[in-house]
Amino acid sequence: MRAAARSTGSEDKADARSRADARSRLPSVDRLLSTSEAEALITAHGRPLTLEALRAALDGLREKPPKEGADPAAIALADAAARLARLSQPSQRRVFNLTGTVLHTNLGRALLPEEAVEAVAAAMREPSNLEFEIGSGKRGERDSHVASWLIRFSGAEAATVVNNNAAAVLLVLNTLAKGREAVVSRGELVEIGGAFRIPDVMARAGTKLVEIGTTNRTHLRDYEQAIGPKTALLMKVHTSNYRIDGFTASVTAGEVAPVAKAKGLPLVEDLGSGTLVDLKPYGLPHEPTVAESIAAGADLVTFSGDKLLGGPQAGMIVGRCDLIAKINKNPLKRALRLDKIRLAALEAVLRLYADPEKLRHRLPTIRHLARPKAEIEALARRLAPLVAQALAAQAEVSVTDCASQIGSGALPVENLPSAGLRLAPKSGSADKLAKRLRDLPIPVIGRIADGAVTLDLRCLEDEAAFLTQLRA
Ligand SMILES: *Cc1c(COP(=O)(O)O)cnc(C)c1O
Repeated sequence: MRAAARSTGSEDKADARSRADARSRLPSVDRLLSTSEAEALITAHGRPLTLEALRAALDGLREKPPKEGADPAAIALADAAARLARLSQPSQRRVFNLTGTVLHTNLGRALLPEEAVEAVAAAMREPSNLEFEIGSGKRGERDSHVASWLIRFSGAEAATVVNNNAAAVLLVLNTLAKGREAVVSRGELVEIGGAFRIPDVMARAGTKLVEIGTTNRTHLRDYEQAIGPKTALLMKVHTSNYRIDGFTASVTAGEVAPVAKAKGLPLVEDLGSGTLVDLKPYGLPHEPTVAESIAAGADLVTFSGDKLLGGPQAGMIVGRCDLIAKINKNPLKRALRLDKIRLAALEAVLRLYADPEKLRHRLPTIRHLARPKAEIEALARRLAPLVAQALAAQAEVSVTDCASQIGSGALPVENLPSAGLRLAPKSGSADKLAKRLRDLPIPVIGRIADGAVTLDLRCLEDEAAFLTQLRA
């Protein structure tokens, strides 16, 4: 308006007049609401959201009036329908994880087995004995549903569970070392993605960090010399997401344990991923197990539920009975406890560990990690011509070798030989092609490198859904 008023040219004036005319031709909200199209939108989305979408569509047309001859009512209704369609999509949606990172934190880490999905549905639908002993009719313990399994698989005396491993570490430190000191090697002061830093967690727990050794070398005598009257515990942290190579020395939990014992101090080990089983029989590199850590003399071990364990987000604390009892009495435990839904999922996942053969087939995390390269390559060869056909105009498709990662900080330098599809764009950039794949109804997330998009097929199981939407 201001531009029109300021201008002197007759063309500008004519332009402004025609826009004002177009605005005056816009239908009212009431008129739009009385159409059969709006009625259908109200049935699908409800009246409040439909009204909001129609108003937003009209606002848009007031800003940018329709062209001469166009039907403003039809445009507004179509715009409102598009707005409502976007709004009705769940925010958290299914995607295809073809990044090659099996436990991808940004894509939700571990996928749960059907056993867990069913247990969760049942726990959500009906009342349960979450904190109720059916035998005695008395109040029960919510952790009891998973503690006995954790004890069985770790060899520890007792177990408790909280929101995640970050919470487990916080709770252990706050319970055993508030206002006192915890001794940690400089080589183990890790930062896990998403702002979990051991020194910061220590500070929040009210624990004073006593750093020992150097970045590359820590010796047993460093632990011995650091122990003083204020020392509350000795801590080992699994350097999940990096490795120090070269002139290095570190002390194992087994070597620190006797020192801790002699001084009457608990030895706490944060294992990070902490697998319950040896991964070697599944063709994977060795990752320290929780049972090994307990056997080596750790008094408490903490680990994640949704990393190698393959369960829901959770943090386990296993170890000495007296220490677990103290932890359970900390008021913070209540703030960090698990809900019935995740406890149901965790129990179902832990049950699978009773049978290693079942585990290999039923637990998606192990199934994906142990999937042989030959099988993935056969899948790639099967899919390549079909994908090439679907993307004929857009990309050159070839079968390629690639390397998967476990992810979530487990075995960071170890790669798993895998296979996939290399999509080289025929025109435009790899970024644009990747965007088009993300815009599919079920977004396909790959990896961009060397001017192409690579789809690592290790985690692709639903071939049919993948192809159907690509063809469409
Ligand atoms: C991943 C990790 C954590 C954090 O675990 P969350 O379950 O993600 O909270 C803590 N410590 C180590 C060593 C880890 O690898």
